[in-house]
Amino acid sequence: MTVVTRFAPSPTGYFHAGSYRTALFSWIYARQNKGKFILRIEDTDKERSKKEYEENIVESLTWLGLEYDEFYRQSDRTDMYKKYIQQLIASGHAYVSTAEQEAIRAKEMVAKFGKAAKPESSEPLRSVIRFKNPNKKVAFDDLIRGRVEFDTTELGDFVIAKNEDEPVFHLVVVIDDHEMGVTHILRGEEHISNTPRQILILEALGKPILQYGHIPLLLASDRSKLSKRKGAVPVSEYRSRGYLPGALVNYFALLGWHPSDDVEIMSLDEIVSKFSLERVQKGGAIFDEEKLKWFNRQYILKLSDADFAEHSKPFLPEWIVPNSDTFRKLIPVLRDKVVIFADLHDMFGANGEMAFVHRIAEYPTDKLLWKKNPDRAASVKHLSAVKEFLLTVAESSFSAENVKSVLWPYVETNGKGDVLWPLRMALTGQDKSPDPFVSAALIGKTESLKRIEAAIGRLSA
Ligand code: GLU
Repeated sequence: MTVVTRFAPSPTGYFHAGSYRTALFSWIYARQNKGKFILRIEDTDKERSKKEYEENIVESLTWLGLEYDEFYRQSDRTDMYKKYIQQLIASGHAYVSTAEQEAIRAKEMVAKFGKAAKPESSEPLRSVIRFKNPNKKVAFDDLIRGRVEFDTTELGDFVIAKNEDEPVFHLVVVIDDHEMGVTHILRGEEHISNTPRQILILEALGKPILQYGHIPLLLASDRSKLSKRKGAVPVSEYRSRGYLPGALVNYFALLGWHPSDDVEIMSLDEIVSKFSLERVQKGGAIFDEEKLKWFNRQYILKLSDADFAEHSKPFLPEWIVPNSDTFRKLIPVLRDKVVIFADLHDMFGANGEMAFVHRIAEYPTDKLLWKKNPDRAASVKHLSAVKEFLLTVAESSFSAENVKSVLWPYVETNGKGDVLWPLRMALTGQDKSPDPFVSAALIGKTESLKRIEAAIGRLSA
């Protein structure tokens, strides 16, 4: 039997973390079993579904590398649903409940439960199509949660369509899963209570029951359900903040599952080979933005220089010319610091620690004095000595290592703070910056000497 899984998002919002993990698990399971992965857009809710969201889902899946084998949109399939509705009515498994009957039903619900049942629509009462519930116990073996039993009596005769042309969610899910040959339904735990209804419909249609696996909820750090306000960031936003798709895939695969060897960093292929539904946990999985950043950092460290440069480009200021010498020199320095590529924005911004590469910040002259020995004459002496040493290094070999090795004996003899603090300030004008050897190499020999001379001038004035 070929395994067929599906991801069936409703395009009523941007594609975010919660749905992403569901898609990922379904995709992994299909790939692992050399099966098929279907993307099905569930747009039966006409008011809330938007094309923009559908596009966002498709683009995000593509960016993450979760390619699908088949694509469907429920709004293209109305005629087929209609045939099934007519079939269910003809076989006595469903019936048209008139507006009058609906009014009586509403009253009965109030008498029975002391309040109106959850309104199925806020519109005035009108005819609907209801499923004739056989009122029985339904049980299934959930692939993750084990045996699950429900008494369907309390569901009553539930609505399966507003009319023949407007089926509702429960019905279309069942029809599509059957028609598309889906074998394994892996979806969020919030759908577990829908499963008995869907099984009843399948039985009424005389179709086989499928395999269900309900994936634990994703929780925010305070253990509440992940929501738009709490951590449910659209995948497209991660993309625009400069997260790497591999890091997202890796981190999300570990939300609710972990391999038996507990290795954390895994490629998608490794995840596919190690994944097992038996190892998916039942309890909710906590989403931790900091941990996601940690994964991103690990993936950034693994990038080649060329790939790092490519990912950096959208976040770099205009004055950094791609493929220029400055750009090449910056790459290892930036790689050391960047957690997500959007960090580059701040680093090169007005008060950023890399701003000095372009232009030295304004700084008060007293800042050139080492706090433990605020002596002007000593600072002038050290900066002048440093200048002489730097003159011995050729512009073409003005690297951080070479700068460090010509200065180091002097630094050791005269004190690190005493020599390096004035030098850092002279080169960058900032408290926070890369070390002075790196800073000197980044701005180059000519500019370094110019800035040191300016500092000496200010101290001697
Ligand atoms: N369309 C449903 C949702 O977006 C998913 C239905 C299902 O997976 O069965 O939550």
